[in-house]
Amino acid sequence: MSFPQETARRRTFAIISHPDAGKTTITEKLLLFGGAIQLAGTVKGRKSARHATSDWMEMEKQRGISVTSSVMQFPYRDRIVNLLDTPGHEDFSEDTYRTLTAVDSALMVIDAAKGVEERTIKLMEVCRLRDTPIMTFVNKLDREGRDPIELLDEVEGVLKIQCAPVTWPIGMGKRFRGVYHMARDAVHMYSPTHGGKILRGEVIQGLDNPRLDEVLGSQAQDLREELELVQGASHAFDLDAYLAGTQTPVFFGSAINNFGVQELLDDFVEYAPAPQPRAARSRVVEASETAFSGFVFKIQANMDPNHRDRIAFLRICSGTFTKGAKLRHVRLGRDVKIPDALTFMASDREHVETAYPGDIIGLHNHGTIRIGDTFTEGEALNFSGIPNFAPELFRRAQLRDPLKMKQLAKGLQELCEEGATQLYRPLTNNDLILGAVGVLQFDVVAERLRTEYKVDCRFENVNVQTARWVSSNDPKRFEEFKDKAASNLAIDHGGDLVYIAPTRVNLQMAMERWPEVEFHSTREHG
Ligand code: GDP
Repeated sequence: MSFPQETARRRTFAIISHPDAGKTTITEKLLLFGGAIQLAGTVKGRKSARHATSDWMEMEKQRGISVTSSVMQFPYRDRIVNLLDTPGHEDFSEDTYRTLTAVDSALMVIDAAKGVEERTIKLMEVCRLRDTPIMTFVNKLDREGRDPIELLDEVEGVLKIQCAPVTWPIGMGKRFRGVYHMARDAVHMYSPTHGGKILRGEVIQGLDNPRLDEVLGSQAQDLREELELVQGASHAFDLDAYLAGTQTPVFFGSAINNFGVQELLDDFVEYAPAPQPRAARSRVVEASETAFSGFVFKIQANMDPNHRDRIAFLRICSGTFTKGAKLRHVRLGRDVKIPDALTFMASDREHVETAYPGDIIGLHNHGTIRIGDTFTEGEALNFSGIPNFAPELFRRAQLRDPLKMKQLAKGLQELCEEGATQLYRPLTNNDLILGAVGVLQFDVVAERLRTEYKVDCRFENVNVQTARWVSSNDPKRFEEFKDKAASNLAIDHGGDLVYIAPTRVNLQMAMERWPEVEFHSTREHG
């Protein structure tokens, strides 16, 4: 297959949803229908906030799928689908944010009983920054939920995006009988199956088909009347509006019962965008360009507990990656040979021979790769828009065994390279201060230090309320600043200088006192 064909058949996306809407279930079912796994539907217990921690860490073990889970690639029909996982808990939102910069479209999952929830709203805002096209799956129709018309109204009103129903549900809860596919004019009858069985229910062609009345009874007439209302009141699917991010095609179903997911996948591979152009600082890079380029959007340590490795996830923006290729690490201005990149087949972790725009490859990272780094065939490109946000919460790492100091510093350094937390080493003492956006991250880091680095540590309160990256165009004043404010300065894990303030007032005063110094609340990577 030629390079343009390989590029055109890629579909790279992520799922956005509020926790519990069914993201994990749908992921499994997509893999099931994609033929990537034999058996889906491992039962998962009730989740609580604490459970979410272990959920994240134990995911690989608990699930029937042996996945690195971050990226799942599977073929479907003549397409290659790349599904990028996003962590569910809101404390990992920055990670989610960055993953959404690496996709070409998103699938929004909504619980039919709950409608638009808070986390969905936030994720939608992120998608909107880049006008990411969004498909919607309304899940759990096997339970009593809200009126579908009302749900679409809510999506339109709250998320400010037009809805175009592609399928329409026939009843719900105990009376759920299937969906009607508008464009195909066909009813897909609901036949619940669990786990790994794929069973297609009857498909009845034509809304006027008398067979409908036979199997649906009075619900057939209800459906016809309701559809008249829906078609009059809602928007028809408009491919351009979907691709522009102003309209979302909507599907209904019940993921746990393997229903509605295949209809979704069929239309997804048909309509979802192929790899899109990406903005670098100097110019826009088209996926059709044959010179290789890509950027790192995620780093994960110790994915494989047997091989203490750190993997940098790179999204290919243009060109072909071939095993053994030499690439320019733009930030370091150095060429590096990549002998053993990973690809992410859902069933296994395999070595990449070739990869194309839209694909994600995993690079072994020995500390030289950071989130936001760009790799090319030589051009000094810099893909923009992958910021680091200044954390809001700070804790000091307190070791139980003082002899493990080196291990602790190493562990913190490596875990912070993943980007979810920031490590600060003050200039004037030996503290190790961790900054995070959410409380849960401290638990995760402590747990991972214990299991992955054999270091037992606690995080205790520290007198830091906020932090800002600092820089200046006035070298002389900057030196003075570094000298005078030394007790408030620290070096982060990326080697950048940070002002750590005990109070907001202190920060304010420092900013007033040092007008020549810039205080940044985000750090653009790279
Ligand atoms: P996530 O937090 O978004 O990943 O959601 P999960 O996939 O873990 O699902 C949350 C809960 O909803 C689990 O108990 C699932 O079994 C359940 N669930 C998922 N899909 C359906 C569905 O179609 N119908 C019903 N009744 N429950 C579902």
